[in-house]
This record gives sequence, C-alpha cells and structure tokens, in this order.
Amino acid sequence: MKLIDAHIHLSDAEYAEHVGELLVEAKNSEVVALVSNSMDLETSKGSLKLAEKYPNHVYPALGIHPWNVKVLKENELEETVKLISEQSQKNAVTAIGEIGLDYKYEAIWDQQMMVFDKMLHLAEKLDLPVIIHSRGTTAQIVDMLPSYRLKRVLLHWFSHPMSALYKGVDNGYFITEGPPVAYSNGIREVVKKVPLTNLLTETDGPVTYRKLPYNGQLTRPSFIRTVVEAVAEVKNMAVADVAEQIARNFEGFFNIKLS
Ligand SMILES: [Zn+2]
Repeated sequence: MKLIDAHIHLSDAEYAEHVGELLVEAKNSEVVALVSNSMDLETSKGSLKLAEKYPNHVYPALGIHPWNVKVLKENELEETVKLISEQSQKNAVTAIGEIGLDYKYEAIWDQQMMVFDKMLHLAEKLDLPVIIHSRGTTAQIVDMLPSYRLKRVLLHWFSHPMSALYKGVDNGYFITEGPPVAYSNGIREVVKKVPLTNLLTETDGPVTYRKLPYNGQLTRPSFIRTVVEAVAEVKNMAVADVAEQIARNFEGFFNIKLS
C-alpha cells in the first residue's frame, strides 16, 4: 500500500530530535509521502530543509498560520511571501499552508484576515494548492474562496457544518481527516458523507490525541494506517482500496507522482 500523511508539522520543535527516526518508521509503515506544513517563516524554512534532505518523501507547504499572526516579527510576512515566491520559481514548494482563520483568535481578526488574504493572492499568482485551517470559520471561508482564482483547495481537519462540506465538494475542494476518525462520531459522519475522491489523510502531528487508540503518545506518521482502517470501516470498503484512492487523490491534488 501507499499511505499518505497530507498534513503534519515535521518542522515543529517538538519533532526536532525525532524526524529521522519518524521518517524511517513512516517508510516501514508504507507512509510514502508527507506534506510538512508550516506555521511561520522559521518553520517554513525548516519544511524546505526537510524536503531537501528527504526528497520524494517529504513535501513542503509554506505559510503563516492564523495562530502566529499575533507574534509576527517585523517584515516576517513580507519575507515569507518572498521565500515562497523564490522557492516556487525553483519548483521547490508543494503548497501554501497552513493558512486560514480561527474564531478563537477573534481579537486579531483583522490581522488574520489580512495575512490570509495575502497568502491566498500568492497562491493564485503562483498557482499553488492551499491548505486551510478553518476552526469555527469553515462556512465563511467556503463562501469567500470563490472570489479568488484557486484551483486546489484543501480544508484540513474538516468538522462542520455539513452544508460547507457539500459546497466545498461541489467546488472541487478536498478535505483531510486524521486520527479522530477512529473515535469521533462527528468526524466519522463527515467521512461517511464526503466522496472518497475528495478525501486525504493526515496526522496533524505533533498534535496529540488523548483518546484511544492513541492515548496521548507522540503523534507519528505511522498512525495513518489506523486512520485508513477507520475510513475503510466507515466507507465499508477494503483497506487497500481506500489507500489506493487516497494515493491517487494525493497525486492529483498536489501534482506529484508517487515513487
Ligand atoms: Zn496543522
């Protein structure tokens, strides 16, 4: 099987000492591709470095996460835009992410919106896919995206509302689901409703999952197998068939040929 972790934060400090070991384990668990999402300028540079060090295994998504908007250093936004533009000329950027809007950070809403808009315009200009964080803002984001010329949109950890799921699917958007598929009825409901052709798998590590079967241990790419098994159960399909379709989705969405 070819398994996919389409959303992980490999350049996060928490993974620093473990990356080599985690990627060996990923290979042994048949996780053949990982998209290293970034939070700011520093982790964007980190994702690029990892992609260079582990070619055809780690793919970099660069950008500024809404949580980091409030701690941006002077010129950090401009420098991140510059980095993405330059690296994209060399075909070294897989996607722009993780970007988005988070309702829990309402106090900095205008800044969030400004950064998100900049990132979306950059994705338009460079013709790159976007990986979107939309906690409490999914319906709003799905409504605003058609005003940008974006061909490839991924709504990460989609939870609700279902109306936004249907609208997104109609627009050709993809969603990712991860470890909660194994225990969350809400997420299982989303997986049931989304066409398998619009679904990718993720771990979002180093986010930890307290519930069984993960039990608070360090999130690892090898969790993807459990995710695919849970999706197969919900879809009432064979695990290998689910894995194959998700690998195909990955290739189509990110324009990458898996080796
Ligand atoms: Zn994330």
